[in-house]
Amino acid sequence: MERSYLIKPILDAVYPTIDYGKGVYLYDKNQKDYIDGSSGAVTASIGHGVPEIIKAINDQANKVSFVYRSQFTSEPAERLAKKLSELTPGDLHWSFFVNSGSEATETAMKIAIQYWQEQGIFTKNKIISRFISYHGITLGALSMSGHVGRRERFIPLLEEFPSVSAPYCYRCPFKLTYPSCDLLCASELEKTIQRMGKQTIAAFIAEPIIGAAGGAIVPPEGYYQEIKEICERNDILFIADEVMTGIGRTGKMLAIEHWNVQPDIVALGKGMSAGYTPMAATIVSDRVMEPILQGSKVIMSGHTYSANPQSAAVSLAVLDYIEKLQLIDRGHMMGNYLLHKLATLANEFSFIGDVRGKGLLIGIEFVYDKEKKIPIKLATVVIQKAMEHGLLVYPSSAGEEGITGDAILISPPLVITKEEVDELVTRLKRALVEVEASLHP
Ligand code: PLP
Repeated sequence: MERSYLIKPILDAVYPTIDYGKGVYLYDKNQKDYIDGSSGAVTASIGHGVPEIIKAINDQANKVSFVYRSQFTSEPAERLAKKLSELTPGDLHWSFFVNSGSEATETAMKIAIQYWQEQGIFTKNKIISRFISYHGITLGALSMSGHVGRRERFIPLLEEFPSVSAPYCYRCPFKLTYPSCDLLCASELEKTIQRMGKQTIAAFIAEPIIGAAGGAIVPPEGYYQEIKEICERNDILFIADEVMTGIGRTGKMLAIEHWNVQPDIVALGKGMSAGYTPMAATIVSDRVMEPILQGSKVIMSGHTYSANPQSAAVSLAVLDYIEKLQLIDRGHMMGNYLLHKLATLANEFSFIGDVRGKGLLIGIEFVYDKEKKIPIKLATVVIQKAMEHGLLVYPSSAGEEGITGDAILISPPLVITKEEVDELVTRLKRALVEVEASLHP
């Protein structure tokens, strides 16, 4: 084989070479087919090779692909911002376009700090996040992330932001049970704010449903209502990191809408352009924009490719497609169907501890045995076996050793049909049977 100079995630691993994709299927150069059971990195949410999106790419490229945002605005960028202001709840009206989820959360962090500065408050510089979390790979985003593996090499460069426990009922950090726990995980936020001094905290950031770091951890009822009240009581902004959960992934436009709670800032990415071009956004509420509009009138962030018309046109076409095919409702329905099938499948395997999620963001957590819930390192083996059987699933075992278990995410494109869900589960079962045989040879 010819020598490769491409820096891949694992340098000495052999990756199949992709040829093309159609719908929920990907085909490699050897004509092996894979069900894209994870939408790549929970990104390709409308499936592959959609003709409407390919047309939008070409149409925009025939006009203009790139202009610099300090020199021009463009119709696609303006229309996309307007569309997002209509699609997101409450006064989330303003869009700052970037290229990746990490940039979106880091911009959210900067805007939150700037919001206080514009009002003459220069001490509110810290962001509280949760231990089990992933907000991105750049140093600011990583400072807010609880992803031990991705942090450890760079700890000296990271901000020492405070963290609080995640609402992880399967392994309650307080060893309690909902609802008698009185949502201690939420009230820990208030204790932490008091410990640090609310004059030092700009915002609290959370993924409404924890994705890569925890395997679709869904909080109990009442959690976000309490979080929001704590933030308001203590003059702290609430940032919802919807990079993974946004744009219909969980059965609502934003996952936080499941709890009717209004964030001050939202980070979007992944599904925004469904993988067709890099695109992400920080969506800012009127409330947060107001002092900036009255004050410096400049958001101190931005990237060369921010708001480029090519990606904006693609993202608009993706949102139109989602609307036209009613993919959010469809994803919600298919998610229920898939969740039910996976929960049934779990009964057949001793090493499946929990199946959870909302919409088409579903996590499966592995254990040594169901009762003791002792974590087992199994995600890598399951992913490998699933791939051999033509199914792609996503790793989500990133939390601190002993705090989170090993899990995978199943998050196929929202366009998946019932028959394709059945085939996905069949392929997963074949993989799990082989994993079981390897555990009990
Ligand atoms: N935030 C969340 C919740 C994510 O899941 C991710 C990526 O997985 C990011 C931020 C970072 O996004 P990106 O990889 O596009 O930088």
